[in-house]
Amino acid sequence: FPVRSSSDGSTEEKTLAIIKPDGLLGNYTERIKNVIMDSGFSILRETITQLDEERASTFYAEHSSKSFFSSLIKYMTSGPVLVIVLQKKNAVADWRTVIGPTDAVKAKVTHPNSIRAMCGLDLEKNCVHGSDSLQSAQREISFFFGEISSGELVGMHDEL
Ligand code: UDP
Repeated sequence: FPVRSSSDGSTEEKTLAIIKPDGLLGNYTERIKNVIMDSGFSILRETITQLDEERASTFYAEHSSKSFFSSLIKYMTSGPVLVIVLQKKNAVADWRTVIGPTDAVKAKVTHPNSIRAMCGLDLEKNCVHGSDSLQSAQREISFFFGEISSGELVGMHDEL
């Protein structure tokens, strides 16, 4: 999987971030990108896309039996999303920390400096996505971008 060694010998990771429709339409992109940069991530790829029902359902297949699934698909297809590949050492866990807990209402109380506290609305409309494991990150990055070679230049953008 796309990992590479940085100069100090530690392993860089890639993870997938998505600015969901409420985040994108609410003009939070710049503030979220400032957090991304301040937290030491490199943006390897980014693309704006409009998910349709089929693509959103495939992306969230693990939740297909959950009661919130149809509402989640409606939300994720309600407008365009900004999909970003982030890279840094420990990117997967660190991005999850930066975005905060799933429920934006709780995030505002327990993690007031998190992105979901900043721009999320509730348990569903939480404005950003982050891969929950290295394995998920690999699947999700491939889902949107295909294979990304490990030596690819940081800063290459897609469709933007
Ligand atoms: N979600 C929801 N209701 C729930 C749990 C999750 O609407 O009870 C939505 C929410 O947008 C969340 C996404 O489904 O981000 C995926 O859920 P997951 O449990 O994987 O949370 P995440 O990993 O995004 O924090």
